[in-house]
Formats: sequence, C-alpha cells, structure tokens
Amino acid sequence: CGIVGAVATADIVGVLVQGLQRLEYRGYDSCGLALHLGAPLADGAAPGRGLWRARSTARVSELAAQVQGVAAATGIAHTRWATHGAPAVHNAHPHVSHGPGAAAGQRPARVALVHNGIIENHDALRAELQALGYVFESQTDTEVIAHLIDSLYTGDLAEAVHRAAQRLQGAYAIAVLHHDEPQRLVGARAGSPLVLGVGTGGDGVPAPLYLASDALALAGVTDRFVFLAEGDVVDIQLGRWRVLGRDGTRLDDAQRPIKTVQ
Ligand code: GLU
Repeated sequence: CGIVGAVATADIVGVLVQGLQRLEYRGYDSCGLALHLGAPLADGAAPGRGLWRARSTARVSELAAQVQGVAAATGIAHTRWATHGAPAVHNAHPHVSHGPGAAAGQRPARVALVHNGIIENHDALRAELQALGYVFESQTDTEVIAHLIDSLYTGDLAEAVHRAAQRLQGAYAIAVLHHDEPQRLVGARAGSPLVLGVGTGGDGVPAPLYLASDALALAGVTDRFVFLAEGDVVDIQLGRWRVLGRDGTRLDDAQRPIKTVQ
C-alpha cells in the first residue's frame, strides 16, 4: 500500500516511520521496516551488521516502539494492504531471502524487499524458486520477488533487480536492500507509483536520497523529486543515483529531471 526508503549518512529511522504515518490514512493491515545496520552513520561507524527487520499488525506507532533506540543510515519501510496471504506478521513486508536451502535463523538475510501491487505469475515463479531450494515463509505473492532477486544476484543489486523485473507479470513498485551492499537501495516500478526524493547535502555530506510510493510521504523532508516512469529501475547509492529504462540503458537528467513540488 505504501513504501518509504532512504540512503544517507545520518539516522533515517525517523524519516521512515514518519513517512509511513503520512501514508496511514490510506489504510493498511500491517506494517514493517528493514534497516541495513552495516551502513556507516555520521561518526563513520556502522551500528551493526546486516539486515534488521521489524513488523507489526498493529499501528505504525507500535512499529515505532519496536525500533526505539535503533539507528540506521539505510532502510526501507512499508504499509501493507493484503491481496495474497492473510493479514499476519509473517505475511507483512519487508520479505527477505536467506538464499537457497536456508530458512529464517539459519543464515543472515541477503535480500530485503517491500512491494506494492500484485504479481500475477507468482505461482509459476514460486515453483521455479522452490525447485532451486528456496524456502518460503509467507503466503504472499511478494516473497517470490525477494528470492528471484537473490537467485539472480552476482554482486550488483541494480542488475539483479533489472533482470528480476523482466520476469515479473502484474503491477509492482518495489524497494530492495542487499546484505552485501549497505549503502545501496534499488527501486523499480510498473503499474504502481514510485518516486525518488533528493535531499540536501553539503559540507562533504552526501545528499540523503529517498524512495516513496507518493511524494506526500516525504513532505517536510524534501521538495525535490524525480518521477519514475513505467519500467524504470532506480539505483541509489550514497549521494548519487541513476535511472535505467526498461531495456537497461541509463536515462539522462533531461529524461528523468528533478522537479520541485510544493
Ligand atoms: N500483494 C502484496 C501482498 O499482499 C502487496 C500488497 C500491497 O500493495 O500492500 O502482500
């Protein structure tokens, strides 16, 4: 239903939670977030390692209570309006992939992903991924995307997301993190909206960069946005981004300009 994401050098947990709260009026049955604890904060030290997740079937304020005291510079967050799989914590986003042959607790999560929309060919993709050894932990259509990206990953998250997107039928806006790339956030959209928000850096501080399903989620955070088009993949790394079109070619600033939205 709603997506917020961020890559910065300061703590972005508050931006994620407030973004979800700005989207709450649209309705949702559960919510969650994933943080990359391996991303360095302003003092240069990372708060931890790997992907950290919290989910709730209560209000966003309950999720906020779960993340109290946790700081991170990279993260994604979601409010869910269930289409496939009952409203329950194990079906709430973010969904993760631990890689083939591993379930929760056996190995750190490698991919964390949030999704708005519906994947029509989820049954066929699930069967294919189960044959590769992926263990499913939810009844959602969304979880197939996390495992599909893991199966295609060879060290470059944007490439894996672009290749995965070519296999998806249906509607999606997604935001994806990878264990091995703490300061990277990749988004893609077709049939569901997604915008890039450009914050203000300076003084050697890289501009914080954001993703959201609606610019409204980032009101008060930034007023500069790049509106992504059908089939776009956006590759955000600390302080810089590039947009790839459906065929994988890079689009220039004139094709995907920054627009100021009041
Ligand atoms: N189809 C997905 C699910 O049921 C995403 C729903 C949404 O857009 O919130 O989990």
